Amino acid sequence: MRSAASVRLPILFLLAAVSSTQAYDFFYFVLQWPGSYCDTKQSCCYPTSGKPEVDFGIHGLWPNNNDGSYPSNCDSRKPFDESKVRGLLSSLHSEWPTLACPSNDGTNFWAHEWEKHGTCAESVFDEYRYFKTALDLKTQLNLLQSLQSAGIQPDGGSYSLMSIKNAIEESVGYAPYIECNGDKSGNSQLYQVYLCVDSSGSQLIECPIFPRGKCGSQIEFPSF
Ligand code: 5GP
Ligand code: 5GP
Repeated sequence: MRSAASVRLPILFLLAAVSSTQAYDFFYFVLQWPGSYCDTKQSCCYPTSGKPEVDFGIHGLWPNNNDGSYPSNCDSRKPFDESKVRGLLSSLHSEWPTLACPSNDGTNFWAHEWEKHGTCAESVFDEYRYFKTALDLKTQLNLLQSLQSAGIQPDGGSYSLMSIKNAIEESVGYAPYIECNGDKSGNSQLYQVYLCVDSSGSQLIECPIFPRGKCGSQIEFPSF
């Protein structure tokens, strides 16, 4: 007969192997409203390719734990390599534009997101799949359309936070987290939308935990 220890040991090794290949529980998929990045005190710079489309842009796909903590900068041996995403460059320019100053082509932003967040999901994605997965998620979501169908327009008007959350939940099927920032006068405005994706990056899920932060109950949706 095998002793309990001889059975337990292989199980422990197996658990250790599983947890070392995937040190996170789910992803936040984060989109930013460009109008809210730009009308702050710090302002913004359009990318070298010109003013982005009037649409949400991708910020990143961030591995996260169910307790709210998250891994970052997991593999310095895998710096961003533009040659790996050559086939995605035109989509990255249109769907993942940078608004940081000084004006640049976006490579710095993509490199930052891959190195800080993407390298922590290497058990699931290589660099190409990381960016492709985020681009596909954005296409699947069409957030601006969801809001506009509910009469919520980027017109500088004020909308109830609840109406924004409801419009997204109704169209996407999952409750979003809304992050606000402040415009030049300090008004609370719709800055980022977070949705959650399962740890394999294949489907949207209910968020296991929401980030902390606060918006007003009425928030502005600035034009861009
Ligand atoms: P901030 O401090 O501006 O909210 O966030 C700065 C950066 O920290 C974000 O752009 C992102 O890279 C990371 N970050 C902030 N909050 C979270 C979070 O809840 N989960 C993950 N995975 N990253 C976060
Ligand atoms: P995170 O907040 O994900 O850690 O990192 C954001 C980093 O990317 C910052 O260093 C920021 O300067 C840079 N960055 C470049 N373009 C953008 C942009 O369009 N939006 C945001 N939020 N950060 C950008």
